[in-house]
Amino acid sequence: MTNPTHTNLPIRADVQAMRAYAVADATGCIKLDAMENPHPLPPNLQTQLGQRLGQAAINRYPHQQTEQLKKALAAHNQLPADYGVVLGNGSDELITLLATAVLTTAPAMQAAQQHGNTIQPAAILAPQPSFVMYQLAAQFLGLEFVGVPLDANFQLDVAAMLAAIAQHKPALVFLAYPNNPTGTLWQADAMRQIIATVKQHGGIAVVDEAYQPFSPVTWLDTLKAQPHDNAHVVVMRTMSKLGLAGARLGYLFASAYLANQIDKVRPPYNISVLNAECALFALEHHAQFSTQADHICQERSRLEAELRQIAQLQLYPSSANMLLVRCLDTANSADKIHANMRKNGVLVKNVSTMHPMLHNCLRLTVGTSEENTAMLAALKASL
Ligand SMILES: *Cc1c(COP(=O)(O)O)cnc(C)c1O
Repeated sequence: MTNPTHTNLPIRADVQAMRAYAVADATGCIKLDAMENPHPLPPNLQTQLGQRLGQAAINRYPHQQTEQLKKALAAHNQLPADYGVVLGNGSDELITLLATAVLTTAPAMQAAQQHGNTIQPAAILAPQPSFVMYQLAAQFLGLEFVGVPLDANFQLDVAAMLAAIAQHKPALVFLAYPNNPTGTLWQADAMRQIIATVKQHGGIAVVDEAYQPFSPVTWLDTLKAQPHDNAHVVVMRTMSKLGLAGARLGYLFASAYLANQIDKVRPPYNISVLNAECALFALEHHAQFSTQADHICQERSRLEAELRQIAQLQLYPSSANMLLVRCLDTANSADKIHANMRKNGVLVKNVSTMHPMLHNCLRLTVGTSEENTAMLAALKASL
């Protein structure tokens, strides 16, 4: 949106031309559009957390709590001793920090040239469709973005990925594992080949495990079993989908050396005392959140069985807390179904225009049993 009175402000043209990240108004709706955990904290835990937060030293800059949280995350995940943790204000921030850490600036390129070296501008590569923030982070910092289309089943096109990595030698390759918005879990062998090729070309592979609570596997196990092959791998996580989307806490695991480099570009106090206390509390009560995640996985199976019965929809397999469906009846587009569902009080995500391969697709977050039943009814009524 251009404002005629402000067009001479020194804001980048691409920023002025872009649209702000849209958050749909969910007032009065069952909210199944953003992969949030539908279960609120039980009242007894609300009281306990309230007391904890009330006692937090909000007059002090955060340090002790964030250090404690890093230790707790390492212990919870049995992180190898030579690995480090970096905390982000959501993993969205970590994506930007990673991009910042690899950014090749014009002065650095000139300095290299004076010494007879040429360095390439850094690129970010990811399969597409995938999480939009990889491309946005590249755009914001002026890095080249290479998107490699998934195959027709939303699986990795391994040959195309390997060729693109060899051609562009990306500094960062993002692999959302499982993927958003498709829910796909990449095959381990495809991951291995891609990660090996990234290593061969001197890049960093980022395995983004935002949906790890709902996935049968984590790349962290592979990393621990084969540390040498995975020394250039970063495993990124978030507490958002587990149930702390409002508290903003992302983290990544990387070799101590790599974690240190990323930590240098982190704003010093990016995690508030309150975020850190919430995250520590969630780790202490992890069993509670795990049980909720298990319940969501059971509900995902039920929804899958029901959605498969609907002839007008194509369902894609998912290892996350969401299901991607394609509306096959062209007369009844995803746009129409989305609008009708909303009229019936259920908000899902219309991802149709996010990527050409997502044409006529809706992304359904798995909610509570009652919410899912209402969602199915609204969906069927909208077809
Ligand atoms: C939701 C999501 C994130 C970011 O979550 P935060 O709330 O910023 O921690 C990162 N990666 C993927 C693939 C996601 O879907």
